[in-house]
Amino acid sequence: RAKELGGNQAGFFTEELGEKTSRQMLLESSLRQALVKGEFSLFYQPLLNLAEGRVVSLEALVRWDHPLAGLTGPGEFIPLAEETGLILPLGDWIFREVCRQVRLWRDLGLSSFRVAVNLSPRQFNRRGLADHLCALLAERSLSPDDVELEITEGTFFTDDGSFEMVEELRRRGFRLFIDDFGTGYSSLSYLRRLPVTGLKIDQSFVRDMADEPSMRAIVRTVIELARTLGLEAIAEGVESDEILRLLREMGCPVIQGYWLSRPLPPDQIRPLLDPGRRFP
Ligand code: C2E
Ligand code: MG
Ligand code: MG
Ligand code: MG
Repeated sequence: RAKELGGNQAGFFTEELGEKTSRQMLLESSLRQALVKGEFSLFYQPLLNLAEGRVVSLEALVRWDHPLAGLTGPGEFIPLAEETGLILPLGDWIFREVCRQVRLWRDLGLSSFRVAVNLSPRQFNRRGLADHLCALLAERSLSPDDVELEITEGTFFTDDGSFEMVEELRRRGFRLFIDDFGTGYSSLSYLRRLPVTGLKIDQSFVRDMADEPSMRAIVRTVIELARTLGLEAIAEGVESDEILRLLREMGCPVIQGYWLSRPLPPDQIRPLLDPGRRFP
């Protein structure tokens, strides 16, 4: 896990009984302060278009460098932030930080990719979201076309206005993906009505594709479904040559996973962004 986060986790917490609760309590009590203290940062993970062999976007993934708990992944604090409402100021910080970073890259002449931002249900269902995001983009002379938004299926169960929000964001020029597709309780009929850009097939299906024919069938079917509906498909969690080969065979347009790169800080992701750079 520590390796996955790209840093070394402090050995402060052991695997003793009750570890989780004390760790959770620690995180909870310091979450509010963390934003002020500047303890959050963003890592970026590339998404590869297989036909072109080119990085077409980067997903921004938030990290919290807690003084005691060490580098901490979003799985541990995003739910907490969502519960407490802190996700709104944190989400704003994340989006602003993405805009700042994209502006830096654009000024270096790096413009062949977008940056994907995850939005939790509470952020997504906030009134005036489209105006708000456009205003933050404009602060850096960017437009909706410079980013992509990712939401999970669960977003549609927390608010009746989610469908309209998707429509409005699309009208305003945002690209929108359903993240972790296949793990929620969505019906297939809503997909037909929903004007999203594409689907990110959850890594749980992709990971087990090599060994389990049933998983292979699911992934193949989702890729075909996406193609039929005119949606883009992205396979998450691609770790091996074998999985990559299977996805190529299935005509999967875009992949993301450790096979290409782990999430990395901006300076380390930089070499992957050279316009002429191609991947096998
Ligand atoms: P996600 O949006 O589905 O992001 C993909 C997660 O899979 C990331 O975990 C990434 O590090 C991990 N991953 C990527 N490739 C591989 C692979 O090949 N193998 C394996 N085993 N894992 C891989 P991470 O960074 O821990 O993020 C977890 C979740 O936290 C994200 O899932 C997303 O739902 C949420 N999250 C992350 N950043 C943000 C953010 O800025 N805002 C919000 N609201 N949620 C965020
Ligand atoms: Mg995501
Ligand atoms: Mg996902
Ligand atoms: Mg996820």
